[in-house]
Amino acid sequence: MQTSAAPGRAPYTLSTLNIITAFFMVAFHVLAVMAFFFFSWTNLLVAVALHWLAVGFGISLGYHRLHTHRGYKTSTAFEYFLALCGTLTLEGGPIFWVATHRVHHQHSDKDGDPHSPREGGFWAHMGWILFGDTHHNNTALMSRYAPDLAATPFYRWLNSYHYVPLTLLGFVLLAIGGWSMVLWGIFLRVIFGLHATWLVNSATHMWGSRRFQTRDDSKNSWWVALLTFGEGWHNNHHAHPVSARHGLVWYEFDISWITLKLFARVGLVRDLKVAKVAAPLPVEEAA
Ligand SMILES: [Zn+2]
Ligand SMILES: [Zn+2]
Repeated sequence: MQTSAAPGRAPYTLSTLNIITAFFMVAFHVLAVMAFFFFSWTNLLVAVALHWLAVGFGISLGYHRLHTHRGYKTSTAFEYFLALCGTLTLEGGPIFWVATHRVHHQHSDKDGDPHSPREGGFWAHMGWILFGDTHHNNTALMSRYAPDLAATPFYRWLNSYHYVPLTLLGFVLLAIGGWSMVLWGIFLRVIFGLHATWLVNSATHMWGSRRFQTRDDSKNSWWVALLTFGEGWHNNHHAHPVSARHGLVWYEFDISWITLKLFARVGLVRDLKVAKVAAPLPVEEAA
């Protein structure tokens, strides 16, 4: 999945557009806007709770800090649960997500990075999804970059059928609260979660402060951190990728880290890896 990449990406053309992805993106955005005509406090509450479950648990605690970087340990059951939550974001299955993100760390802002703003802010945000060389369902290909997950039948299944849990959730919401709850709990919530996550790829490689002189353009961004449960402390993260803690000082609000500490107290997670602000950079991350 070496997306040819870097300086001088060809202009966006219809021939490189991923038609199916584009169709769903347009449909989800249109239905997300429609949700505003069907506001209720219950629908808002459902959307916020599901955002926390999908992006907070699924992406931040699951796909990112656990499945990709192994920043802590937990039971297999909880690991599977987090992966299921991750699919509720429509960001693809666990093998695809982890493989793409590992390639990002390997080639950050260099040739081969799937989503670097050096090729344009729009490209880094969502252009790479719409026009890039994506392989959401190509489990065999993506497995090369995530052999640890590919060795597990559950992850292989979930990667190929990552849209199934979200579809089932849609039917549950339809039964409980009708179409308006589907608009809020699925469409608006998914679009909000996608843009929040994409901001980590776009905004935090463009705007913010740099505590560590890493070899990439990563930045720390407090407002992206607020939208993504702590994922916005992205310069800290690129400097110390394995650390389960991204906000490294008290004023760097990192909800996922607070959650992990609570989970550790009740025995749900263990062996949390934590970087120190003064720690030297791992050789492969240094500028
Ligand atoms: Zn990054
Ligand atoms: Zn990472």
